[in-house]
Amino acid sequence: MTAYTIYEYKDVSGRLLYSVQRGPDKDFRRFRMVAGQRINNWDGVQQVPYRLENIGREQVRKVLFVEGEKDVDNLTKLGINATTVAGGSNAWGKLLKQQPSFCEKYFGRYAEVIILPDNDDPGRKFAEDAAQALHDVTSVKICDLPELGPGGDVSDWISNNPGCTASDLAQVIQECYYEYKPPKKDLTSSISNNFEVNIYDTATEAEKGQIENDLEQIHSGILAKLDGGSWSGNTYNGKCPVHDDKKASLSVTLKDDKILMFCHAGCGMESIAESLGVKRSELFRHRRAELKHAQSQPIPEADLTQVISKVLEEREEPDEFDDKYLPAVLRQFSQETSQLTEAAPVIIMSTCLAAMGAAAQLNLQIREPNYFVSLYPNIWTLSIAESGSFKTTALNVGAKRLLERERELLLEIKSDSEFIDAMVADNQDPEQNEEMQFYLNRREELRKKRRVLPEKSSWEAVIDRIDETGGGVWLLSEFGAWLSALDSKHNSGAGMKQALTSLYDCPDFYEDSTRHGGSKLLQNPFVSLSGVSTVEFLRGLLSRDDAGSGFLARFLLFRPPAKRKTPDALPLGKKKIQELDSYRLISEIFTQLEETTQPIQYELSPSAKKAFTEYHNQLFQRFYKMDSDKQFLFDPFIKRWSPGVLKLAMLMQFLIDSETNIISEEAVTAGISICLYAETCTKHLFKTQLGESEHQGKERKVYDFILRQGGKTDRQKLLRSKVLDGGKMEYDDKLNNLEEQGRIFIQRMDGKIPTNAQITLTAEATPQSSSPG
Ligand SMILES: [Zn+2]
Repeated sequence: MTAYTIYEYKDVSGRLLYSVQRGPDKDFRRFRMVAGQRINNWDGVQQVPYRLENIGREQVRKVLFVEGEKDVDNLTKLGINATTVAGGSNAWGKLLKQQPSFCEKYFGRYAEVIILPDNDDPGRKFAEDAAQALHDVTSVKICDLPELGPGGDVSDWISNNPGCTASDLAQVIQECYYEYKPPKKDLTSSISNNFEVNIYDTATEAEKGQIENDLEQIHSGILAKLDGGSWSGNTYNGKCPVHDDKKASLSVTLKDDKILMFCHAGCGMESIAESLGVKRSELFRHRRAELKHAQSQPIPEADLTQVISKVLEEREEPDEFDDKYLPAVLRQFSQETSQLTEAAPVIIMSTCLAAMGAAAQLNLQIREPNYFVSLYPNIWTLSIAESGSFKTTALNVGAKRLLERERELLLEIKSDSEFIDAMVADNQDPEQNEEMQFYLNRREELRKKRRVLPEKSSWEAVIDRIDETGGGVWLLSEFGAWLSALDSKHNSGAGMKQALTSLYDCPDFYEDSTRHGGSKLLQNPFVSLSGVSTVEFLRGLLSRDDAGSGFLARFLLFRPPAKRKTPDALPLGKKKIQELDSYRLISEIFTQLEETTQPIQYELSPSAKKAFTEYHNQLFQRFYKMDSDKQFLFDPFIKRWSPGVLKLAMLMQFLIDSETNIISEEAVTAGISICLYAETCTKHLFKTQLGESEHQGKERKVYDFILRQGGKTDRQKLLRSKVLDGGKMEYDDKLNNLEEQGRIFIQRMDGKIPTNAQITLTAEATPQSSSPG
């Protein structure tokens, strides 16, 4: 069995550094030997060119560069100096990123490097990458060997020419080589490409959607599948493959950077694309064009009176959030991922906005005189939901793109740290060693890009992180537990909520004096926050005083309705989130936010001003109609909801059109619809769970139980329900109270409640959404 070949990489003196094992299916494994043990990675390894022990000698002035160790070995057998680098056709990006001085160090001494590409696209790419990397340090020539079949390489050439010698090959090369000329450099793109190469290695499928599609080819592929059609100008009309089409209902147009397909019978683009065997993403030249198309989808004309009337309704429980005013990209993302995961769409949506804010930090802003103070897109949301309602899933889905990015950064930081550690172990001095300096600097840059704040850490560590990164987003799957843990770790005890509260405004300067060794000064600390909690947990931590102090009022409170149905045992769809079109588009939005380096200073369009003013005035009118006890509770909330609309509107505008600094009426309306929902939920929470006494809480539990039974139950069932801790007396007491309030009927015998009395709700409760099953 000779299925496996091992290629050894040695230093110039012949000492073995690491190895590549080539398997029978051209599968490559990397390993190194440490104290006689095989370790299957190259962590901390400094790469060298293959056969450095031969080509590193002083007198060698020329070298052939090929793809693959096998070719080097075959050339060596002919007595020719040749080399390669490990890793195949994607080797260069990664290598240069980890060892930026690689070319200078190993190739700078040659008068000439001649590259012999493999005869296929990956081969030409590898050669191009090599040439680009090497031409800065030496003269580079490329030679396409004659008479190579598809995929052929120099080893094939040698075996096709039996008996050939080094000088035979040299002559062929002499005849057909040419000087490598680098493409005209677009400086910005070459820098960013160089950096993105490695991110690409860990990118999801959706992330890789940056590739340009050959639209012309895809277009003609589509036309080939539509028979019996005709042209009308630039538009081809053919039979729609989705419905039983008698006349040519489908028009296909290639327009700039997208292919438009429209069926006059109303078939959706998705299904048309599917039956033609093309992906949606292939209908656009690149992801940016796809996003532009999605962004241009109209948002329905706003009719907020309807939404406002819901706020005013004194309902038992708020409905789902009505997302119809949201920008299409965000709406589709939260709908599709919610269907996939069963998590509440409003939690996904609000977490996504909080994460977007963290990606933008201070780069989106409304400043004086456009508002009284500076506003940034840091969003604080707190969703109250029952346990078992996929709250954590919702956070992870909403922030998925940010979390993926965080993971990539951590992998890179880890890999850099390994190199740094290896160099430290090798007693390298960072002052003297440029390579080490490079790693140290880059690790610092990577760390600055982190945007997810630690959930489990001390307050001091949080402050240090914000100092390093400028801030980010907290994703808190157990908000209550987080709050109490942080509180107990905070030196000044009860002042922690106060400290958090002051971060909300991204103040110009924030001084934290909780640390032992003096204080720390932060400039514009940016904190977004998306938390979830059960109401029980929250109630223990937040008093009415907290509402008054404004800590709680910084949050948009959501209380999505509980789903009273058995969750699916297994996922219904076969798709992963990364494969969703909407995830790809949201990712593109995040990419654009990350690439925004100049702050966008937003202004409101005239119609946006009008809509916002109207909302603001109506909000205060509602407030003045409240009785004074309620006003005390709601005063701090009212003051946040109004600017909250503008904070949200910046993100909404970026979602609608990232290239303008004018906030449109649509963006403001989307913000208003969210703040109105928060208003409904907040009123509900204070009316019920947060604002009620212990006594009222027990009544509500009894009432909710009857509601869950479809509005009708009997006393025995109620007693068995254990919704209260106490005995029969306790239940009867609450039943009597509810009856007095006119909320239930109790079937009585001689004025007394019989053992198995029928109990019915009087109100127009909504049992259809609450009945089990
Ligand atoms: Zn059709």
